[in-house]
Amino acid sequence: MSKPFVYVTRQLPDDVLKPLREQAEVECWPYTDEPVPRETLLEKAAEAEGLLTMLTDQVDEELMERAPRLKVAANLAVGFDNIDTKEASKRGIIICNTPDVLTEATADLGFALLMASARRIPEAAEYIKNDEWHQWSPFLLAGSDVHGKTLGIIGMGRIGAAIAKRSKGFDMNILYHNRSRADEAERDLGAVYASKEELLRHADFVCIVAPLTDETKGMIDKKAFQYMKSSAFLINVSRGPVVNEEDLIDALERKEIAGAGLDVYEQEPIGANHPLLQFPQVTALPHIGSATTATRKKMVSLAAENIALVLQGKEAATPVKQ
Ligand code: NAP
Repeated sequence: MSKPFVYVTRQLPDDVLKPLREQAEVECWPYTDEPVPRETLLEKAAEAEGLLTMLTDQVDEELMERAPRLKVAANLAVGFDNIDTKEASKRGIIICNTPDVLTEATADLGFALLMASARRIPEAAEYIKNDEWHQWSPFLLAGSDVHGKTLGIIGMGRIGAAIAKRSKGFDMNILYHNRSRADEAERDLGAVYASKEELLRHADFVCIVAPLTDETKGMIDKKAFQYMKSSAFLINVSRGPVVNEEDLIDALERKEIAGAGLDVYEQEPIGANHPLLQFPQVTALPHIGSATTATRKKMVSLAAENIALVLQGKEAATPVKQ
């Protein structure tokens, strides 16, 4: 019997895909840095029983309609806002993500972004490189304290809790907002539940780690920035569209907030002329939340395992609830 066909939408490490190759005919789009063109993805999906997709691929109704054999799509991310899970559910296609294995790496990056924003680290590093450092001065590149301040986490899930855990080492107070109470974070980390408005009013760092959904899209808008302290920072490591970028630019221009640390944007990738990059108080990173080599390999391995399990007729290790 011929092996089922699995299409992988980027070139990924061969050693990690090896176990999947033993049971499937695996083909990869041959580039790591370039997304597969839509037409190619549709062509390959037409033959595939499994897809290993990236957040840059839209797994939508059109694709599913053209993929009659598709049993499983495993996304190389914990977020799955690029996938129409309702449509997949109707068609019996299993959708998988990569939770847990990326939690710590993403929390490290989230906290690094918070620190970098507060202490103006990218600005200070540029200052030396531009040969501007000619003498010590008492308020040279003076930033904001992190220790003892209030961290407000919107989305106290796996990554939110891991960021909160890091903040304990900095003696920070923790507020959080979810749709439901996070009992463990309250008990183990002393996190205090707050309404969104209360959190925005009191936090010195508002950290967004909620997923992108119809409900969270644009949740950080003009009104939210008006609630925030003028000394507060916005840190976004979830998905760009959770923040209304036009309102963020406006808030930065009006100095309604002190700055922002961003890993994600409404439209990615952004170019050097993006209006957000004109602000020295914005620390911008190119969506690298989970990007350590070890974590990315674990994510590939988990996505491949999910496909293998479904193709064997077993339950996936980390299916998305559909
Ligand atoms: P998770 O464990 O599911 O946590 C998400 C949290 O968001 C939950 O506590 C959930 O609580 C809360 N939430 C959901 N809808 C909400 C709403 N409408 N208002 C307020 N809170 C809401 O997910 P995770 O593993 O921590 O990942 C979180 C997100 O991080 C992912 O979806 C992804 O978009 C992003 N991420 C980004 C990167 C990066 O590279 N920058 C890397 C990894 C993950 P309730 O259900 O009680 O509301």
